[in-house]
Amino acid sequence: MSRELIDIGYLVAAVCFILSLKLMNSPVSARRGNWVAMFGMAVALVVTMFSPSIQPANLAWIGAAVGVGAIGGFVSAKRVQMTAMPQMVALLNGLGGGAVALVALFEFLEADALGHHAASVQGITTVLSAIIGSISFSGSLIAFGKLQELLPGRPLTFKGQQVFNLLLLVVTLAMALAILAFGQATIPIFVGLVVASLVLGVSGVLPIGGADMPVVISLLNSFTGCAAGLAGFVLTNNALLIGGGLVGASGLILTLQMCTAMNRSLGNVLFGAVGSEVSAGGKAISGKQPKSYSPEDAAILLTNANTVVIVPGYGMAVAQAQHQTKELAGKLMGMGIDVKYAVHPVAGRMPGHMNVLLAEADVPYEQLFELEQINPLFPETDVVLVIGANDVVNPAARYDKTSPIFGMPILDVDKARTVIVSKRSMNPGFAGVDNELFLNDNTVMVFGNAKTSIAKISTALDTYA
Ligand code: NDP
Repeated sequence: MSRELIDIGYLVAAVCFILSLKLMNSPVSARRGNWVAMFGMAVALVVTMFSPSIQPANLAWIGAAVGVGAIGGFVSAKRVQMTAMPQMVALLNGLGGGAVALVALFEFLEADALGHHAASVQGITTVLSAIIGSISFSGSLIAFGKLQELLPGRPLTFKGQQVFNLLLLVVTLAMALAILAFGQATIPIFVGLVVASLVLGVSGVLPIGGADMPVVISLLNSFTGCAAGLAGFVLTNNALLIGGGLVGASGLILTLQMCTAMNRSLGNVLFGAVGSEVSAGGKAISGKQPKSYSPEDAAILLTNANTVVIVPGYGMAVAQAQHQTKELAGKLMGMGIDVKYAVHPVAGRMPGHMNVLLAEADVPYEQLFELEQINPLFPETDVVLVIGANDVVNPAARYDKTSPIFGMPILDVDKARTVIVSKRSMNPGFAGVDNELFLNDNTVMVFGNAKTSIAKISTALDTYA
């Protein structure tokens, strides 16, 4: 394939990547965005396979590797539960980082064999992509282990951890400088650099836990993008360069937006070890008993309301109760009740989790309200129906400085006249903290699986309507 045709192919791929990001801005067009990105990636792959830099003898091997990867990706994406999606993103991200580190390692070995000087732009980008790719690989695997509960989810810390991490970073950078200064014959140092970066990824993510894992995954995603962009530079592959740059930039923007949503700085997320001590998080936890209501009693509360706000959370995703929720909302609206959905930016286990589930149940987008829009409306709301949400409605986040979720903006549901909470028990949510909301005088609990409870409330509405 001619150089011109290859460049046109990469240009098409780059345009597709940018267009797909634009389409993913809205849940309405997000699916199309995925298809456009897939098309762009397919074009980039085909063009690369037929570029002159690929030996025809290797085509069969490359094709087989692409086939194995495609089948593995397809099967695991089909099988994965929506609730396990963050782990899957962490794992895929780790593979991306690992692939970039391997590319860097082999490019270094080849350059070394050819006697190229390491202190070239090419050499600097190779070293950088090895460091960032390795950190991203091992860090993502630790994030996967935490979310999959193979490792404890709480921050794992030891005395002097931050000093250890700082020293490790200094040693890694010193090795990078040594490689660039001495050029050839530094293969053992390069291997040492990769090992130190891998350890840095592990020791950097271990002390992060609880509610901060989504931010870490997004940041590591950005790292992988940057490393891939650098690898694109090393391999003079424009599609990799542009694609990596886009992932790096969008991952960083998402990271900062999530920090803003939790009212935390990135430094605090990475080095604060937030969530290592489980706090009761609230004043009136001890001694008080929750008020347990039957689904039928909850239905009566709802029929007497003029305004209802539904707050979905992780439990709705686990129970797959989105269709029952939509049906219930439809019945309430049929009774002339104003129904809105309040979507917290980090409800569930991945950004946009609730939007995806509600879209799956065909809930109209105009009924979805973001945190800033809905919070002023809670004092005027008759009934809030919380379905499997916990941390995102915990009032302790507003005032309890000892709570691991202190400072995270929450949905102020406690300010509504009545709150109905559907969950199975008094167990805490992701951050592992108790929630005083469940014991408030204006809160009633409907215990049980959300799908069953919401279906029962919905059936009961037929009686009381
Ligand atoms: P939480 O994890 O705080 O709470 C979920 C609640 O759902 C639990 O308390 C659980 O209580 C209940 N639940 C679980 N299964 C069911 C079921 N089958 N039926 C009914 N209830 C059920 O969820 P939130 O959405 O409120 O908050 C999300 C948390 O996850 C935040 O801390 C956030 O920072 C974090 N996070 C967010 C990510 C994101 O990007 N959105 C990614 C990773 C973490 P019980 O066991 O009693 O039923």
